Amino acid sequence: WAKADGKSRWALYDPERNAREVARFTLSATMPAALERDEFYVDYQPLVRLEDSTVVGVEALVRWQHPEFGRLAPDRFIELAEETGLIVPLGRWVLRKACEQARRWLVEFGDSAPFVSVNLAVRQSRDPELVRDVRRILDECELPPTHLQLELTESAIMGTADEPLEALRSLSDMGVRIAIDDFGTGYSNLAYLRHLPVHELKVAGSFMEGLRAADGADPVDAQIVATLVQLAHALDLTVTAEGVETPAQAERLRRIGCDAGQGWFFARPGPPEDIDRLLHGD
Ligand code: C2E
Ligand code: MG
Ligand code: MG
Ligand code: MG
Repeated sequence: WAKADGKSRWALYDPERNAREVARFTLSATMPAALERDEFYVDYQPLVRLEDSTVVGVEALVRWQHPEFGRLAPDRFIELAEETGLIVPLGRWVLRKACEQARRWLVEFGDSAPFVSVNLAVRQSRDPELVRDVRRILDECELPPTHLQLELTESAIMGTADEPLEALRSLSDMGVRIAIDDFGTGYSNLAYLRHLPVHELKVAGSFMEGLRAADGADPVDAQIVATLVQLAHALDLTVTAEGVETPAQAERLRRIGCDAGQGWFFARPGPPEDIDRLLHGD
């Protein structure tokens, strides 16, 4: 008995919503072939030590060069890939690409080469083949596990069943670094952190807004970040701040004792050659 007026019918046949659905469907249906055809590629963004500007790590960020829609950011397709399950082979592909790249940096720069940091979707963290896949890729790329970091969100890592945690523990025992991505945006059980095989917290970019101005920064955001840094250090974890866009933010973070920063202030995500140039110091 819904009112049969024009408005509610319009909502049912909303053409914009329909177009979005069709686009989603098209993307999701063409993704497997796109992976075969090599339409995905990886950009890299440095994690920079605040004390001395050393590039300590490099995050791998996947993109899709779509033949029709052009360059697509991960926000457009990662969720879809999670839904269809394609995230598992896609994620494996990113991991291999990133490890191959990390190996090149290792050969060229030796011990001072940065680790590569790869995002792991929830579905991947629950994939029973995860540990085997990672081990095989590291072997084939001749990359020491210490040169790989895996980034998981709070929801992927907290309150999960025992099995994925077991997998993370095995990876951590191998020497792979585990990071919690977008820290502070989910519902972390802070006390539980000490029982997790985690090496790094990546503090979410949403806290950086309050650190933007040289003066007049939001004291609450600043206090939250300072507290997270203290907590992390008490647990022997390193902290990287995400979304650092201004010199004032970088300077505040350095004074707070944050270990590293990532963001447009240091470098935008780009091809591996951008990182090469940074590592060569030009
Ligand atoms: P994330 O892991 O938190 O990655 C950081 C995001 O912040 C990236 O967005 C990066 O381009 C962006 N960013 C970097 N510096 C700044 C800055 O100074 N300001 C602002 N506003 N943003 C900055 P991107 O590349 O669009 O990736 C979005 C998300 O997609 C990632 O967030 C990650 O959750 C996911 N993602 C990317 N690559 C992969 C992947 O290979 N596998 C999985 N599962 N997820 C991925
Ligand atoms: Mg990440
Ligand atoms: Mg993040
Ligand atoms: Mg994110």
